[in-house]
This record gives sequence, C-alpha cells and structure tokens, in this order.
Amino acid sequence: PVTTNNLDAFWMPFTANRQFKKNPRMFVSADRMHYVTAEGNKVLDGTAGLWCVNAGHNRPKIVEAIRQQAGELDYAPAFQMGHPKAFELASKLVQLTPPGIDHVMYTNSGSESVETALKTALAYHRVKGDGSRFRLVGRERGYHGVNFGGISVGGIVPNRKMFGTLLTGVDHLRHTHDLERNAFTRLEPEHGVELAEDLERIIALHDASTIAAVIVEPVAGSTGVLLPPKGYLRRLREICDKHGILLIFDEVITGFGRLGTPFAADYFDVTPDIMVTAKGLTNGVVPMGAVFVKNEIHDAFMNGPEHMIEFFHGYTYSGNPMASAAALGTLETYQEEGLLTRGAEMAPYWEEALHSLKGLPHVIDIRNIGLIGAIELEPIAGEPTRRAFSAFLDAYNKGLLIRTTGDIIALSPPLIIEKSDIDVLVDTLGGVLKSLD
Ligand code: PMP
Repeated sequence: PVTTNNLDAFWMPFTANRQFKKNPRMFVSADRMHYVTAEGNKVLDGTAGLWCVNAGHNRPKIVEAIRQQAGELDYAPAFQMGHPKAFELASKLVQLTPPGIDHVMYTNSGSESVETALKTALAYHRVKGDGSRFRLVGRERGYHGVNFGGISVGGIVPNRKMFGTLLTGVDHLRHTHDLERNAFTRLEPEHGVELAEDLERIIALHDASTIAAVIVEPVAGSTGVLLPPKGYLRRLREICDKHGILLIFDEVITGFGRLGTPFAADYFDVTPDIMVTAKGLTNGVVPMGAVFVKNEIHDAFMNGPEHMIEFFHGYTYSGNPMASAAALGTLETYQEEGLLTRGAEMAPYWEEALHSLKGLPHVIDIRNIGLIGAIELEPIAGEPTRRAFSAFLDAYNKGLLIRTTGDIIALSPPLIIEKSDIDVLVDTLGGVLKSLD
C-alpha cells in the first residue's frame, strides 16, 4: 500500500508541486470537520478542502445521491441529449440566484466556468450585432483559474510568465490606491468608490465601445482574502452600465454560502450579468461548475436571429448525471441544514475568535468576512512565503489544516463548523503563531 514513507516506489502523478515530493502528506479518509492522515492522525479541516467542502465531509445525502445515480444512469451525452437531473438541478439553482439571473450553463471546474463566462460575454455582444467589443478587464491579484483566458484576465503575473502571448486586449484594474496601500483589506468606505473609478482610467485608454466585460472576484480568496472596500463593487456596476460593459463575478469561492448568503452578489447587493461558480456547487465531491447568466443574455442566444448564433461551446461532461446528482444531494444538504446562511450566524463568533490572535508575534493584519478569515504575517526579508509555510507545517503536525498564500494564512472552514471547533482552530493556531520564528 501507498504510505508517505514509500512514495519513491510509485510513479508520481505529474503535478508542478515539488514541495509535496520533499514533504509528502496524505489524507486517506474524512468525516464532517476532519480528515484522517495516512498515519492515522485526525486533522481539523480549516479550509473546507480547497474552499469547496462547504457542507463538510462524507455527508450522507450526497454519498447516497452519487451511489444511486451510478447504478441508474452513469452517463448521458451532453450535446443533443439530456437527462432529468440536469433540468431538476437547473430549476433548483436558479431559485437561489439573484432575480433576473435564471439561466445556467454547466461546466466541470472553476477554470472552465471562467472560460465559459468570457466566451459568453464576447459572443453576446456579437449576437447583439456589436462586433467591436473584444477587450476584457480583470484586476491585479485576481485569480480566475489556470486556463488561458483565466490567466490572461487573472492578475498574477508569475502565473502568466511561462506561456508567451495570451489573450490580447486585456487590462487590469489596480489593486492598490495612491492613498492607501492596503485598500483591499478593509470593508470600510475607504476609497472604495475612487478605487472603482480606475475602470474609467482603463476606459479612457481605449474606446469604451471596445470593452466587452469586466471580471472580478467579489472577495478574492486564493490571493490572500482581499475584501472590496465599501462601494467598490456597486461603482463598478454603475460604470459598466454606463458604457454597456458586462460585469462578471467570479464566485467560485464566494458562492454557496461562504459569506453567509447564497452568493456574494446577495451579500453586497450588486447583481452581475454573469456569475461564475464551481467548488461548493457539489461540495467539492464531484468536479462541476456552473455559469449563471442574466435573462437578456440567455434570450439573445436562444431567441436572437438564427444567423448570428455561431456560439459553439460545451464539454463532454457538462451537467453529467453523476455531477448533477451530487449537486442535488449537496443543495438538499445545504437547505435542510440552513448552510447557505449559517455563515452569517457564525460570523460574529468567528470574527471575535480570530481577532483574539491580534498582537501575537509577526501578525500584521487579521481580516474576516462570513466564514472566511485571513491572518497576514510579516514576511521574512527576501523570503516572502517562508513564515506562513512554517505555520502551515506546524499547524498540520498539530492537527489543523490551514492554507497559505504568500505570507497570508487563509481560513475557510466547512459551514457546519461549531463554536467548539472554532475554539480548537483558534487555540491551535495561537500555539502555532506563538512558536513561529
Ligand atoms: N476562480 C476562483 C476565484 C478560484 O478561487 C478558483 C480556484 N481556487 C478558480 C477560479 C479555479 O477553479 P478550479 O481550480 O476548479 O479550476
């Protein structure tokens, strides 16, 4: 059997992760809030896997839905054919989305959802007879997956470096503000509106009528939990409306209850034209994504002039029966247990617990929203990830899974978390931070 001590005897599946090879860690099972490691240790899941296992692990309704589906209809072609669960799921999903967003396209991941959204936005303008809109706008430090469109609009320069020319006609909104270096760490009305005005800077560089869409994460998760300052998203919406530009929210992390509302669009009360989701859609159990579009967009494609519709898109596994069944089991679990709003109930306790870590060595900022948390550490000069990575290893050895990005510790526990779990999480983390070099 495979263990962490004998990995050399097996072929390594190819990933770019050289760290793992040096320091292998493996999970062999999981239940609700905990993983079990290959060595038999229990680890509290402080990250819901990769921000996806919102209902916790090994949930009976989801397991049973998959089991049943596998024995009934394993696969149905995604083009020309359908199957009932895909329809049933679509009907349930659009009851959760903001008013006016009543249509969904299925994908298999966050990255594919991003590509689908970008292609839909570009094609929509053409279907409407406006072929001049080809530009896309992302944001510095935005993360939109690893496919070509996603890294082009994404704001992480190192992720683009190895791949030569990507999408052309892409600009990035600024992440910082002249007046405030850390503009995206506070929800207070500090420069939110002015920061969004950066979109006008980009528009002024080009002709507004060449810009197809703006894509942002309402809260950027994987690049360090960056909170939009108050008024930011609303102002982006207004500027987009003024110029006929589509607004896309990448809700891969924020979707399905992470902020204590079904979507971040609800939390911030700003409705995008297109919403990109994945992760929590199936509780991370089966790969699946979903892209939600405003009714006007759907109608343009479905009811527009036939000769304009040359939109070819879709995947072999789009809305496949296993994924649809898993998503239905997931939604049932969310709804039965009130998980899509549980984050709002737990947020005050979560906030207080996290902020009790204030003042510990090297902690320079603590921030939170819904059931997301971030603890920013002072970087060691010249080694901007070392301190947080040592925290990650120490936490893991003490039975807690955290995630790090640069020198920021990110937390996003399953939404079933109890106060007693929060106490354990914060105590363990406190111990880790106290012993950090
Ligand atoms: N968008 C956002 C905001 C994400 O956080 C992620 C994944 N962390 C993705 C897209 C990509 O999702 P996937 O890894 O499922 O392709």
